[in-house]
Amino acid sequence: MGDYFERVVDLEVTQEEAGEAAARAIDWLVAEGVVTRETDGDRMYSLYADEGHVPGPRWAEAVVHDGWEPGPLAVVTGRHHHVGGQGEDDAEYAVCPHCATRTTFIDYPASFEPDETVWAPFRAAVEAWEATGAGEATLVTCGACGTASPVTGWQWPDEYALGALAFEFWGWPPLSDEFVAGLTDRLGHRTARHMGKF
Ligand SMILES: [Zn+2]
Repeated sequence: MGDYFERVVDLEVTQEEAGEAAARAIDWLVAEGVVTRETDGDRMYSLYADEGHVPGPRWAEAVVHDGWEPGPLAVVTGRHHHVGGQGEDDAEYAVCPHCATRTTFIDYPASFEPDETVWAPFRAAVEAWEATGAGEATLVTCGACGTASPVTGWQWPDEYALGALAFEFWGWPPLSDEFVAGLTDRLGHRTARHMGKF
């Protein structure tokens, strides 16, 4: 099961705060016995981390059923777009924070590829946000209301998340909702939850 992951992305922490927030979360996870401070790179395929924390003595309390032994918990800091599912790299849509109009990039099921003319300005803004975190280039103008909003302010589908801190549970049995809610409480921010396969 090593190529499955669950990911919890902090949607609000800044890159500057991410390291400290990650350390606090790991302190808590170690105290709870979910992971240890020991790290290992086996059975994980993270795009951004080479090693993760190995499961602790009470890892089973974080999952719905302890059907198999989990792999490492990788902690990813830095501004990235995180994608769930099977590794598609494009979002399906985004919703304007000003007028709530949905801009659709991929017109399922008619198409499985994004409409480049619609998607390109959003992708460019995501890339600018990953590179710089703020500024004119990270804004996207809504086609419906004409308001320019930071790309991180747009509402994205569950499987597409922009965040500077992510926790990737490699090969873990399904995490319990209570555990994910507890981690989210600890972070003190909104989070997105992904399941996927590499
Ligand atoms: Zn709008």
